[in-house]
Amino acid sequence: FSFEETGFPEKIIKFLTTNYSEPTPIQSISWPAALSGRDLISIAQTGSGKTLGFMLPGIVHSINQTTGGDSPNVLVMLPTRELAVQVYDVSREICSKLGLKMALCYGGQDKGIQLRQLRAGPQVIIGTPGRLTDHINNSGLNVNMTSYVVLDEADRMLDMGFEPQIKQILNNIRPDRQTLMFSATWPEEVRNLAKRFQRHPVFLNV
Ligand code: AMP
Repeated sequence: FSFEETGFPEKIIKFLTTNYSEPTPIQSISWPAALSGRDLISIAQTGSGKTLGFMLPGIVHSINQTTGGDSPNVLVMLPTRELAVQVYDVSREICSKLGLKMALCYGGQDKGIQLRQLRAGPQVIIGTPGRLTDHINNSGLNVNMTSYVVLDEADRMLDMGFEPQIKQILNNIRPDRQTLMFSATWPEEVRNLAKRFQRHPVFLNV
């Protein structure tokens, strides 16, 4: 499986071939599954290349999206500021090449900076559940038309007590969205979240 066979737009393939020699196993299976529009569950560890595994199909989804109003097309939820910054940094170069604006929203940072990013109409939002909920409740963020959602490190988010916020956010997003869930482990709490918020997910265990 090569980068060319992914069917990604030219600029993404160029980005990949410039930086890497071949897809990682998780990328080889998550890219076609995510590009097909299916929900997916992936039991994946950090270091597996999962970030590009979910971000690149999300970016393609966003490019193809014609309606979104003032909602971002893509929303990525993750447990910590460090992870949020990491995913943001990995995505920044390719998003800017494709003309997509991003916002980064995590707790503990001044809200003004985040609100400025949100008002600019970003297509891609990366953030932690608490601060994302805060922006939604204060009308800084509208996710009504968001259509591609990623829960990264779902088990850790639940361990940290973010379940109510995750549920609130997902309940605000249209039910015909695509929902991708990444988790290092697969305990009952994560299974329940998947059961409630995903539709016929593809299960990828690399
Ligand atoms: P992640 O698991 O997403 O945190 O990625 C871990 C590291 O793997 C990051 O530094 C990525 O830049 C790198 N990476 C992502 N995709 C590939 C690839 N296809 N080949 C080699 N390294 C990659």
